[in-house]
Amino acid sequence: MLGQPIQNIVIVGGGTAGWNAAALLVRMMSRVISITLVESEEIGIVGVGEATIPPVIRFNNALGLNEDDFLKSTQGSIKLGIQFENWGELGDSYMHAFGDVGRDFAFCPFHNFWVRSQQLGIEADFWDFSPNYQAAVRHKFGKVSSRSGTSDGGLPYAYHFDAGLYAKYLRGYCESQGITRVEGIVDHSSTCSDTGFIKSLTLKSGKEIEGDLFLDCSGFRGLLIEQALQTGYEEWSHWLPCDRAVAVPSESTGPIRPYTRSIAHKAGWQWNIPLQHRTGNGHVYCSSYVSDDEACHTLLSHLEGPPLAEPRQIPFKTGRRKLQWNKNVVALGLASGFLEPLESTSIHLIQTGIRRLMDNFPHQGIRQIDIDAFNKQSKLEFEQIRDFIILHYKINQRTDSQFWVNCRNMSIPDTLEQKIELFKHSGRVLRYSDELFAEVAWYQVMLGQGLIPDDYHPIADSLSEQKMLRMFAELRAMVGDTVSQLPTHDQFLASVTQQQLRTSSAASA
Ligand SMILES: Cc1cc2nc3c(=O)[nH]c(=O)nc-3n(C[C@H](O)[C@H](O)[C@H](O)COP(=O)(O)OP(=O)(O)OC[C@H]3O[C@@H](n4cnc5c(N)ncnc54)[C@H](O)[C@@H]3O)c2cc1C
Repeated sequence: MLGQPIQNIVIVGGGTAGWNAAALLVRMMSRVISITLVESEEIGIVGVGEATIPPVIRFNNALGLNEDDFLKSTQGSIKLGIQFENWGELGDSYMHAFGDVGRDFAFCPFHNFWVRSQQLGIEADFWDFSPNYQAAVRHKFGKVSSRSGTSDGGLPYAYHFDAGLYAKYLRGYCESQGITRVEGIVDHSSTCSDTGFIKSLTLKSGKEIEGDLFLDCSGFRGLLIEQALQTGYEEWSHWLPCDRAVAVPSESTGPIRPYTRSIAHKAGWQWNIPLQHRTGNGHVYCSSYVSDDEACHTLLSHLEGPPLAEPRQIPFKTGRRKLQWNKNVVALGLASGFLEPLESTSIHLIQTGIRRLMDNFPHQGIRQIDIDAFNKQSKLEFEQIRDFIILHYKINQRTDSQFWVNCRNMSIPDTLEQKIELFKHSGRVLRYSDELFAEVAWYQVMLGQGLIPDDYHPIADSLSEQKMLRMFAELRAMVGDTVSQLPTHDQFLASVTQQQLRTSSAASA
């Protein structure tokens, strides 16, 4: 039997999750559905979450955002990758750079040739062949339509931005498109006695808000998905033992780097996210190995500039809600689960969650089959990203602290075990086509942390040593040529700001 079409969506929460959801829904569905967002300024938002990955650009394009305006309004900068420091051995450094490294030859991924070169004793740094890495370490960025000597596109990139300004920016966007925003604290919800579906929310003010579908974007508390529906949580702290973060912004120093830094410490790691007006910093750590005071001291002693605020502690529990869609509640953002920000995946998960909701959006009433499809896809996506994050911990080579030794010795999900074993023996990565992280992301982390495969694909032997060296030289030259044509990242950001001023003054003329 067909049910009633969904007419009213109520979003609880106005953080990154709430406003992202509101923005896409208002853009795509406001002709057929009314959207209300309720948030509380008194409660506020978590206010961290400043680094993204390249699919964010598709999301922004779907919203029709102007990139210059976006970068200016969020004090944003460009991100070409993440530099991991001290993750292999203490003192090591490598980058998970976005985009290709080298080029496939005869359908054989480039890293096979590189592994062969290592076995032959040829000196070649894997990242010599990454345009993003070479641009990032030179603090360069520009929009190029293609890379020198190739038909390949420009440099894939993502953004760093100020989380508070981002929520504000999206709120402005949504309000300009006619969304109803209600200020107030949700006190309780009422459910329908026969279906268990949420019928309405009652605010502390006594105001009642009815809805057909509720998006729980209320942050870690999971106001509807957990407190009302008691969905349950699957914890993954046995694989990802960090359970706290301490965050602090600091003054910018020197040029704005177009990449995130992730610096491993004694029992966790520190992020460094350069923005136009400040640097975002935080230390993610495991409270069984370091106290809050020690973690805070470690963070403050590794800042590049003076702190701009008091450090803020944020406890978290790694894992996911057992169902991310339960009855007529869909959880997004921190209400749906949490994976530490090592690969900047949370905002991405919010955005794919909204996309998935739209893909599975019921036409004539909510049916269990739609809910099941959504939950199956969400679970798989969370687990695949979880494995990629665990990889960084598992293959560390540090001996200087018990935390790292224990991470290396911990048991890991079978899915990841299989990937690591296959890579060790053959240099291949077992990846399903819809996984977020491409093979080249896996190669970079594994090679970067010292996991060099014993073998490589036989096609890599099809080139003579001389031809392989010539291929390396040509690739290096193409990368060098592309990078040499780029402006500095600071120049790029300055041109964005000027562009913005030009547009504004033209509009007001
Ligand atoms: C330490 C840390 C670092 C992170 N770094 C990154 C990163 O680099 N990249 C990335 O992609 N992600 C990162 N994340 C994740 C990112 O911060 C979140 O995914 C994102 O901010 C989404 O938050 P949210 O909207 O779910 O929750 P919140 O920001 O907590 O928003 C919750 C909203 O719900 C409202 N609310 C709650 N209760 C009520 C109530 N009773 N009545 C009315 N309103 C209510 C609040 O007012 C608020 O508006 C990080 C997270 C943490 C913890």
